[in-house]
Amino acid sequence: MLVLSGGTGTPKLLRGLKEVTDFWVVVNTAEDVWVAGNKICPDIDSVIYAIAEIIDDEKWWGIKGDTFVTHEFLKKLGFDEMLRIGDRDRATHILRSEMLRKGASLCEATRVLSKAFGVKNAIFPMCEEEVATIIVTKEGEMHFQEFWVKNKGEPEVLDVYFKNIEKAKIPEEVKRRLRKEDEVLIGPSNPITSITPILTVENFVEILKEKKVVAVSPIIGNQPYSGPAGKFMKAKGYEVSPRGVFEIYKDFLDALIVHESDSKLISEKIFATNTIMKNKEDAIKLSEYILKLFDHI
Ligand code: GDP
Repeated sequence: MLVLSGGTGTPKLLRGLKEVTDFWVVVNTAEDVWVAGNKICPDIDSVIYAIAEIIDDEKWWGIKGDTFVTHEFLKKLGFDEMLRIGDRDRATHILRSEMLRKGASLCEATRVLSKAFGVKNAIFPMCEEEVATIIVTKEGEMHFQEFWVKNKGEPEVLDVYFKNIEKAKIPEEVKRRLRKEDEVLIGPSNPITSITPILTVENFVEILKEKKVVAVSPIIGNQPYSGPAGKFMKAKGYEVSPRGVFEIYKDFLDALIVHESDSKLISEKIFATNTIMKNKEDAIKLSEYILKLFDHI
């Protein structure tokens, strides 16, 4: 099974999925950013940390129990990093950036890091090229991280686009694996800023039309479980609801799993169960449900 992932909802699910089946992951890299000389891939890091079970599962980013000595000391020296980076987490970024500076690909660096953290699942960036999610707001255009971290997601959103996406290529190994893969799971990730960038790399959507595709809705009722997905869906003209999520994926989707409180939406392609993952047990139960659904459709 291939899983498409962002950095919060889907990693929560992967923590359970790894107990019930084998899978590989293609991860959004449009939120990547260079900070203090190092390349941060927030979504790749969260996927690795979640599978390795060292993720800070209160914030859903960074490493559990990490310290922030370097970040705080940099501040004392007069340099305020845009992101609050933990000391151990920074070691990941340093190692990745050193590899990239020496000529390694991001696929290679991700493989080395995954292995170092004991992760057996293959994890791939959606592309090697640098793509940036730009949020168009009433206050001007800004990088996703500037919108979400610096401005706390407050500015009114007018549009979202992915800078450089037209130059992005599906990595060769991802292409090879896709040829042999029948099942694709889209986790409960932000459909606009986490999944759409992956879908927009080359002909990814066309490839998905040939597969069995199941998605889990990150929207419950009329709002996301967490994060800014609602604002982005609205800016893109979609209803903020599981129906809106279905609309975004409708060209290739075989089944959408919604939360049980949205069971009124059940139809030929919409199924309902508990999709709220408060702990690993919830993630395992949802994963078992997903496996059964793949057999059923
Ligand atoms: P990002 O890269 O940090 O934006 O993370 P993702 O795109 O992977 O995940 C963000 C989405 O996950 C948000 O839209 C949330 O609504 C959704 N989400 C987070 N936790 C849960 C959960 O337990 N259940 C469901 N259904 N969605 C969740």
